[in-house]
Amino acid sequence: MVEFQVFFFPVMAHGHMIPILDMAKLFASRGVHSTIITTPLNAPAFAKGVQKSIDLGFRMSVKTLEFPKVDGLPEDCENADQITSAMLPDFFAATRMLKDQLEQLLEEYRPNCLVADLFFPWATDSAAKFDIPRLVFHGSSFFATCAGEQVRLQKPFKNLVNDSDEFFVPNIPHKVKLCLSQLPPHQRTEEETVFTKMLNEAKDTELRSYGVIVNSFYELEPEYADHCRNILNRRAWHIGPLSLCNRSLEEKAQRGKEAAIKEDDCLKWLDSKSPHSVLYVCFGSINKFPSKQLHEIATGLEASGQQFIWVVRKGTNDKESEDWMPEGFEERMKGKGLIIRGWAPQMLILDHEAIGGFVTHCGWNSTLEGIAAGVPMVTWPLFAEQFYNEKLITDVLRIGVAVGAKEWVIGTGGGNIKSEAVETAVRSIIVGEEAEERRNRCKGLKEMARKAIEEGGSSYSDLDALIQELSSYPSSK
Ligand code: UDP
Repeated sequence: MVEFQVFFFPVMAHGHMIPILDMAKLFASRGVHSTIITTPLNAPAFAKGVQKSIDLGFRMSVKTLEFPKVDGLPEDCENADQITSAMLPDFFAATRMLKDQLEQLLEEYRPNCLVADLFFPWATDSAAKFDIPRLVFHGSSFFATCAGEQVRLQKPFKNLVNDSDEFFVPNIPHKVKLCLSQLPPHQRTEEETVFTKMLNEAKDTELRSYGVIVNSFYELEPEYADHCRNILNRRAWHIGPLSLCNRSLEEKAQRGKEAAIKEDDCLKWLDSKSPHSVLYVCFGSINKFPSKQLHEIATGLEASGQQFIWVVRKGTNDKESEDWMPEGFEERMKGKGLIIRGWAPQMLILDHEAIGGFVTHCGWNSTLEGIAAGVPMVTWPLFAEQFYNEKLITDVLRIGVAVGAKEWVIGTGGGNIKSEAVETAVRSIIVGEEAEERRNRCKGLKEMARKAIEEGGSSYSDLDALIQELSSYPSSK
């Protein structure tokens, strides 16, 4: 039998590596030889997932490219969670230098397809050199893709001046309002930087590539799946929620980095709680709040009277500098609040029936993981397309409550949300009639998500169609 091989090449950030590993596992489970392309220091993050697939009898492998040394990046820096926002241009300049090494691999192995990250726009030309179809993975929702493109192209904000000035996202099926400060700073100033050039190039690449793979399912955002294909002219395949390919406790617990809490301890803690009674608070893989924001969160959580698991990212906020913690907080919260310092087994936690709400930064992976677990959300967007995802959660799907974040912050920024806003939002997601209604809507979406990935479901069928089409390439060009 001729081997059908697909290369998967994520940008070196956990929010992209995690879903691409899931995607590669999914392709492998359909008979494809899935090969992850990454750099040496990121390879361990894929090792367990790849080995698990191999143990199940599927074909998977990892190939590494040497991460280039560039001025401006710390020693041994190969992942976005090691950089500040000021280092972003150098980081992306370094990834661009991977081009030659990638092309050598493409020439040697001649895979049937290259699935490469949005942040590698140059990969389309690399693949084209060897007549290999390149698919783009951008890691966003259909909704954010459509809203973001309409705002980028139509510039509805161009006559606005003040941060709080509002505008409607043009040409989309729902009425969705944002304010000026929720746009990325580079979009507001229209300043051409290395980063914005790359983003614009990336958007154009979506049209020049074979198509786009979307981690979503049709029933979640049907108008936007259609809009993306028919109005924005993307050839798009939706094959998610990708996280649902992890079925065992072990797989759910081992996504991303090594967890800072033992799986058993975490489950035991949750098992002792009643259904829908615990909040899970986590802001993704990159964010590090300053002390004053952590203090406000702690105060708000305590005042709400709700139980919680709170993931506080290490770094500037590690044990040595816990000046953010209100006096006696951890003592008072014993049994009621669990703080995880570092990496949490997020999927394992969200899937537990004790979880009744998720305070999230609206990263798309977290959002979709929350939806797939049937958990209502308190939305606290920070950067990237997260302000659009918030609107999908609160205005379109009506499964969340906004904490009121209006400021675009990345890395160690932020700090303007007061404890009262945290208290009100988290209480309203757990308690009351509206909370019950939200929970019911979430239950419906959870069932739809599971159906979508089962045989005959919309995502299952779209992946079949994609693999079918790729196997008849180049006649499917
Ligand atoms: N994640 C996790 N444990 C953590 C933090 C994050 O497992 O302590 C995972 C989470 O489940 C998700 C990914 O990391 O799959 C974060 O991606 P997302 O798009 O939500 O946010 P980003 O990190 O890209 O801002």
